[in-house]
Amino acid sequence: MKKWPLAWAATGLTLTWLARRLSAPSLPDPGPLPASVPIPRAEPPDDMDLIAVPTGVNNRVAAYAYRGGSVFDRRDFYIGAALIKHPRGDLLIDSGFGRDIARQFATMPRYFRAVTRYQLWKPAADQLEEAGYDVGRLEAIVLTHAHWDHMSGLPDFPGLPVMVTAEDKAFFGNSRAEGRPGPPSFGPPFTQTPFNWRELGFDGGPYLGFARSHDVYGDGSVVCVPAPGHTPGSIVVFVTLPGNVRYAFVGDLVWQLEGLIRRVERPWLMKRLGDTDPDGTRQNLLKMVSVMQRLPEMIVVPAHDQRAYATMARLPAARPRA
Ligand SMILES: [Zn+2]
Repeated sequence: MKKWPLAWAATGLTLTWLARRLSAPSLPDPGPLPASVPIPRAEPPDDMDLIAVPTGVNNRVAAYAYRGGSVFDRRDFYIGAALIKHPRGDLLIDSGFGRDIARQFATMPRYFRAVTRYQLWKPAADQLEEAGYDVGRLEAIVLTHAHWDHMSGLPDFPGLPVMVTAEDKAFFGNSRAEGRPGPPSFGPPFTQTPFNWRELGFDGGPYLGFARSHDVYGDGSVVCVPAPGHTPGSIVVFVTLPGNVRYAFVGDLVWQLEGLIRRVERPWLMKRLGDTDPDGTRQNLLKMVSVMQRLPEMIVVPAHDQRAYATMARLPAARPRA
């Protein structure tokens, strides 16, 4: 009986050693964004706010998230949303786990369910309701990309516009196609839900080294840029709050902050399974590294890194039910 913990420890040590052995050195340092690239101006309204809405976690380890990570370093991936409060209408970035996650998850392939453990804390729609938030204030949900763990909560907001790039809408439509790279998606009935899609196009010019952009409110406070690679239509959402507090929601460009800080990609297998275009992911990862070197005060938020959300406000504690 007592031999098992030892066996597990030995296996873990061997796997960590192998992961380190096989891990490539950091990607080359791209250097900071050149001084010739202007820092975009933003005029966020005084009452703008940013609130983290965690809905649960996906139990992973650092060795899964980035090259050189340890199998002993437990990382509970943040699965949730971020609420942007803006007088011209609020936004949710991603939706986290929704009320129907158990049934949705049951429609995923058996192998994926076998290697995935998640905990639902509370769906975003329930948290907002219990906090007394008027859901009518929501203008749209912006998807960083069309993966299952970012979309599960969409049906909890029926009729609410879902802003997504044309590339990721097509990707979602083909998500069950044979041989499609990337993690599997939910099957029906989720895929048949009549979501109120709004195509996110990029009508604006260059933004912090990214070629195109879309300024959601026209005041520079929320600006989306294309950052394809993880999925064909992945985006980064730059948010600037009053006081020039800058955030960058980078979706799944990296799964944990180390990806950007150490300039390391996902491990080989995860890259193959998790990215539709690993080269695109690498280019955009390095682009973000340049941005971070130029704007070191910017708070960068990988969608699944709990530490990045710790800087944000939370919803008021749920009111007791009458
Ligand atoms: Zn993803």
